[in-house]
Amino acid sequence: MSLLDVYRKDARDLLAVIASSAAPEWRVCFTEDGSEEPTGIAPVCADDEHDPDDGSVYNCCPAPAIECFSSTFADYLAALLNSDRSQS
Ligand SMILES: [Zn+2]
Repeated sequence: MSLLDVYRKDARDLLAVIASSAAPEWRVCFTEDGSEEPTGIAPVCADDEHDPDDGSVYNCCPAPAIECFSSTFADYLAALLNSDRSQS
């Protein structure tokens, strides 16, 4: 097992504890860092009242919202975690 595989498993195990699923679908989101770009990631919200194009995080949204401090990293981590979903 490669080190990347070990870290993937560790992340999946952590998400099983802190999120609603071990492999949620991720989106980029606006966090509370004051940035005008979405610099965080959060699981996709399935609430009917939450427009999928609205990148904000509300009470309806599943946890966790994770600050990445960069829209570039947020895009990358969301894509990476979504790619890992197919390997779980
Ligand atoms: Zn929501």
